[in-house]
Amino acid sequence: MNQELFRKLPKVDKLLKLPLFTNLIEKKGYNSVYEGITLSIDSFRNSIMNNSIESLSENDVIEKAMSIIQKKSKNNLKKVINGTGTIIHTNLGRSVFSKKMIENLSHVLSGYNNLEYNLETGERGSRYSHIENLICEITGAEGAVLVNNNAAAVLLCLDEFSKNKEVVVSRGELVEIGGSFRIPDIMRASGSKLVEVGTTNRTHTYDYENVINENTSMLLKVHTSNYKIIGFTEEIKREEIVALGQKYNIITMEDLGSGVLVDFSKYKMKKEPTIFDSLNSGMDIVTFSGDKLLGGPQCGIIIGKKELIQRLKRNQLLRAFRVCKMTLSALEVLLREYKNENYEDIPTLSMIIEPIDNVLLRAQQLQNKFSKTNIVTEILQSKAMIGGGSMPEEVMDSFALSFPEINPIEIEKYLRTCSNPIVGRVQNNRFMLDLKTIFPEDFDTVVETMKKFNQ
Ligand SMILES: *Cc1c(COP(=O)(O)O)cnc(C)c1O
Repeated sequence: MNQELFRKLPKVDKLLKLPLFTNLIEKKGYNSVYEGITLSIDSFRNSIMNNSIESLSENDVIEKAMSIIQKKSKNNLKKVINGTGTIIHTNLGRSVFSKKMIENLSHVLSGYNNLEYNLETGERGSRYSHIENLICEITGAEGAVLVNNNAAAVLLCLDEFSKNKEVVVSRGELVEIGGSFRIPDIMRASGSKLVEVGTTNRTHTYDYENVINENTSMLLKVHTSNYKIIGFTEEIKREEIVALGQKYNIITMEDLGSGVLVDFSKYKMKKEPTIFDSLNSGMDIVTFSGDKLLGGPQCGIIIGKKELIQRLKRNQLLRAFRVCKMTLSALEVLLREYKNENYEDIPTLSMIIEPIDNVLLRAQQLQNKFSKTNIVTEILQSKAMIGGGSMPEEVMDSFALSFPEINPIEIEKYLRTCSNPIVGRVQNNRFMLDLKTIFPEDFDTVVETMKKFNQ
């Protein structure tokens, strides 16, 4: 029986000569077509060995090969519609680029550019020159330099200022950020020695003062962006750390994590320490991410005292951590929005500060589109989150569309694995799409994709 089925397996060479595949080779390339055919044949061979099929035709093998070729020719990194309601979703690419950022990227990158060329003098220029003044203008810092992400920013600073020396950090601030950024590990990697002071919930000025010695190079404050210690707590104020730094002539630095330039308390939210708060307290160096609350491309921004920034610019690691033209071209557009206080055109910020009525309107618009199908929907109140390890307690009112007649587990898996992936949330045995993070231009895709599930 098996032998007969094995004999029915077509030969690769024979299939490759079929017009169907010769045409496909023109479009997808020989290697992709060859791969699809062999994988299809392998899969049927396995099925025969496991006795899991009883009949086989050449057409079965062809169809499976076609489907493998189609699937494998799609890019692995693809657009996802975010129905989770988490705005800075680290697994879904953190901050979304604005239309203007995309336009500038496409314009600058489709040809050559002046990345390291000074058009005024006709000589070699610096890639950092395009954004340093803008960052300084917006934040009020004396100097600025840019690296690939905030983890690299912290590592670069430790390497320059604290190699083989001691760095003092409060025990309440030894954070771990998702994706394995841990302050103690980063210290070890940089060759500096971590000196922990205080206890998890309480650290006092005298704790710092007790450990300062001639080998102390830095007092580091780390913003505990993704957790909160509550109850009987005390942390020392930025100003007190700065005063100690000045008294003993030691560099003070704050790793802010998420870099905020907007005072959220103006929007009835809890105040998150801003870049200005940190800088105005007198910190010598402040570092933050580009793609968290700032709302831009992945990068790490280091601002602070001019002479310290000069030292960082001469550090050899900067060459390894340097940002590319894609990052710079997107970041410059973002910084110009900040300069003009045009927060509506920064997607991450506009989602955070928009009125709740806008979200309800989007939910109703999407529901309207579904009313022309036979899919039953319901609008529910929900809670959206900022995410990205930023502002952990800050949940915001939102609205979600749910599908009461559809099995939540099945629809969740279907939407996540289809060709235009949509990621939602299952809550209280309901599948929900939170409208906080779904853009109107994606509504048609959501409806069309859902219609295919129902068929
Ligand atoms: C997120 C975060 C980091 C890491 O930043 P990346 O830009 O993701 O490298 C470091 N420190 C703190 C406090 C953070 O919140």
